[in-house]
Amino acid sequence: MMTGSIAERIANIRQQLPPEVRLIAVTKKVPVDAMREAYGAGIRDFGESQVQEAAAKRSLLQDLPDVTWHLIGHLQSNKARKALEEFQWIHSCDNLQLAQRLNRLATELSLKPQVCLQVKMVPDPTKYGWTVPELLTDLPELDQCEALQIQGLMTILPLGLSQQESIEVFERTRALALEIRQQSWSTLQMHQLSMGMSGDYLLAVKAGATMVRLGQIIFGDRIA
Ligand SMILES: *Cc1c(COP(=O)(O)O)cnc(C)c1O
Repeated sequence: MMTGSIAERIANIRQQLPPEVRLIAVTKKVPVDAMREAYGAGIRDFGESQVQEAAAKRSLLQDLPDVTWHLIGHLQSNKARKALEEFQWIHSCDNLQLAQRLNRLATELSLKPQVCLQVKMVPDPTKYGWTVPELLTDLPELDQCEALQIQGLMTILPLGLSQQESIEVFERTRALALEIRQQSWSTLQMHQLSMGMSGDYLLAVKAGATMVRLGQIIFGDRIA
């Protein structure tokens, strides 16, 4: 059961987070009025999973100048240019071809987007993202995407894990970022870990998340 106002929920969540953890309010299917309420409660980071929806909302929220927009959903390559125009952060860069396309377009547009590489720690052919071996193979080419500020990893847990399994997956993600960081890359940065949603963010924070992406726990159930 969801209790309290959006502002109260945000305050409660904030209290449970270390101050350095970035709270991204996931606003897919959330109306702009509720987004304004979240803004009023201090939220400056909005996460959206669709480029079109974000573009429409951005035009309605132009009076909120200091907002950072984060793309967290799968990006089709034909929307890559628009995504770069609408979002400062792309958490869901999930394959090498997309990274290289974003890099080309960012160069063209003179942009330096912040990017996370989406990794699936538990292989699942129906999910987006690099498996660990694929990611390690692609690192040299990712390191050459000089227009991208590749800041770290993003992961989504598979459904149905126990608490212990969830912590283990988050900790393996952190260990992977550390392993990459200890290699000597020229552009790749690996200090950000975008992990943790409404159901698992406290576990993710324990395991070292630097950004959590929270939707339902702030805004209530999404009506599809
Ligand atoms: C929807 C979504 C979230 C937020 O999920 P909640 O369960 O509503 O907190 C976080 N990350 C991604 C990638 C999502 O698609």
